[in-house]
Amino acid sequence: MRPIAVVPLSATPHPNASRERLRADVLVVGDGVVGLATALAVARAGGSCRILGRTIAGAASAASAGLLAPSIGAADPPIRAFMRAARDRYPDWVHWLAERTGIEVTLSRLGIIEVGSRKLESDAPESEAMLLDDAALASLEPSLATASAVLYPHDGFVDNLRLLAAMREAVRCEWSIDVAEGRVAMIEPGRHACSVTTEDGRKQEGDTVVLAAGAWSALISGVPRPIPVEPVRGQMLQLAGCPLAHAVSSADAYLVPRGDSTIVGSTFERVGFDSSTTSNALDHLHRAATSLLPSLAGADVLSTWAGLRPLTPDGLPVLGRDPDFDRVVYACGHGKNGILLAPITAECVAAMVAGATLPIDIRAFDIMRFG
Ligand SMILES: Cc1cc2nc3c(=O)[nH]c(=O)nc-3n(C[C@H](O)[C@H](O)[C@H](O)COP(=O)(O)OP(=O)(O)OC[C@H]3O[C@@H](n4cnc5c(N)ncnc54)[C@H](O)[C@@H]3O)c2cc1C
Repeated sequence: MRPIAVVPLSATPHPNASRERLRADVLVVGDGVVGLATALAVARAGGSCRILGRTIAGAASAASAGLLAPSIGAADPPIRAFMRAARDRYPDWVHWLAERTGIEVTLSRLGIIEVGSRKLESDAPESEAMLLDDAALASLEPSLATASAVLYPHDGFVDNLRLLAAMREAVRCEWSIDVAEGRVAMIEPGRHACSVTTEDGRKQEGDTVVLAAGAWSALISGVPRPIPVEPVRGQMLQLAGCPLAHAVSSADAYLVPRGDSTIVGSTFERVGFDSSTTSNALDHLHRAATSLLPSLAGADVLSTWAGLRPLTPDGLPVLGRDPDFDRVVYACGHGKNGILLAPITAECVAAMVAGATLPIDIRAFDIMRFG
């Protein structure tokens, strides 16, 4: 696997920069996984796209752990089915990215082990969850200091940094996408077109605007209605050494293999747009990790960081057209599951923009559920 460097989309000259269009079919506000995936899906469906992005500290996609965990946590059956459908798109998605860019994105579908649980959720089909007895758990993960667990055999994780690098490279190679550096201050939705204006006063026009600005989505003026998305900080650390094959989730922390290291996450803090780390939280995560994996007790801490999840009141994304201004499409508020949901979100937005049948029912994510 060749090494990658994760650089902001705007840091390298964009091959499409010299032919920046006066107008694009779709203006995508935000350059995280959701914005990038959306632009790629629109381009695949034959549309032209401009991504407007500005690197802001705390962007969630690079901060994430990359878990593909539709089976963990409470969810109504249709939501669970949506999340599982999102997960099941991943093998084709990373394969497509590798073919386009040569960047192989690590994808594990060995399953996620949820420790401390001895019962299966009532909605879990047999093929989606298995109780592990002590012997089965010890044979899967001998280093884990715990006995009871459930295995979700089709869940897993993706290396989100490689994923971002591959998506950025795919965008760079795509003639029908261009990238305009800048923070969007205002959207002006109209009946026949939409425009966006960046902080430096540049105005750009398109047929449709997709709002994919993560935790910052509510800060853009001119959006037809309030966006109920708030930032929720998650702190993370990376320990040297990886005794695990599977990702492991517990009530206190989750552990995700990342090459020769282990990613440990995460906190869930409402502290506004503050994306700094705190020693208390990192100590807590460190203790939680080493109580699950005592062999990591003396491991070096390779890095620490924090990111801001874009969270809605019910934890579900806002996805779909504005009911009054159908040229405004919402693709934000993906909360804890934005890496998981990015490809399916993008597919839905591209179908909407192309006037095609949606691949899956998204009515549960309508903005009007918030009144
Ligand atoms: C610590 C942590 C761990 C996580 N772990 C997981 C996990 O294991 N699995 C999972 O599925 N999800 C996980 N998530 C959630 C996931 O990372 C997010 O849901 C997802 O990355 C959201 O993607 P996004 O593109 O909407 O937002 P972001 O990645 O935040 O991207 C938004 C982009 O828009 C830009 N922007 C903002 N405002 C403007 C503007 N006005 N104009 C132009 N650009 C703008 C920002 O700079 C940013 O680059 C985690 C999140 C965190 C913080």
